Amino acid sequence: MKILNLICKRTNCYLLESSCGWIMIDTDFPGTLYRLMNLLNQHNIKISDIKYLIVTHFHPDHAGIAQDLKNLGIRLILHECQVAFVDNLNNFYKKNNQFNFTDILPEGNIVISSKESRDFLKSMGIEGEIIQTPGHTDDSISLTIDGCCAFTGDLPEFSLMEAYNDQTIKNSWKLIKDYKITKIFPGHGNPYTII
Ligand SMILES: [Zn+2]
Ligand SMILES: [Zn+2]
Repeated sequence: MKILNLICKRTNCYLLESSCGWIMIDTDFPGTLYRLMNLLNQHNIKISDIKYLIVTHFHPDHAGIAQDLKNLGIRLILHECQVAFVDNLNNFYKKNNQFNFTDILPEGNIVISSKESRDFLKSMGIEGEIIQTPGHTDDSISLTIDGCCAFTGDLPEFSLMEAYNDQTIKNSWKLIKDYKITKIFPGHGNPYTII
C-alpha cells in the first residue's frame, strides 16, 4: 500500500493509494494550496488523480484548504460526527477574515457513518474503516487499515497516553488497537509503531 506524506507548512498531509485514485488525509492551514500543488508536481501527481479528502478534525491546520480542494474536484468525506463542527471553523474565519480561508460548504460532501465507511473503502480496494476517536477534539476520526496502520490526526501519541490519564483518549486507542494496527501515521511528527 503506497502512502506519501506532503508537508506544506506544519501538518502531515497523507496520500493513500486506492484502486480509484489517491485518498488524501488532512490538509494544512489556509493559503497552502500553491505549496501543495508544487509538492504534487514534484511527485508527478495531478490534482485530478486525488479523488477523496478525509479531514481528521476541523482545526485550521487540518482543514485549511478543504474547500479549495473541493473546488478542484476532490470530494470531501465527512464522518457523520463531524458535520456540526464544520461550521465552527467557518464561523471562526468569518470573524477573522484576514486568513484567506474558503468557507467549507455542505454541497458535494459525502457524509457516512463508521459502519458505512467499511463498504465505501472496500469499493476502493481498501479494507478499513473511518472511526470516531475523540480525545483531542470531539470531531476527531481515524482512518484504520485492517491489520496494518492508522491515520490518527492529533490524538495524543500512544506512548504518552498514561500522561494524559484521560479515559476518552484511552478508549480511542483501545478501539484503534482492535483493528490490529501496528503503525501510526500522526497529524504531526514522524510515523511510529505500536505493539
Ligand atoms: Zn487539532
Ligand atoms: Zn494539528
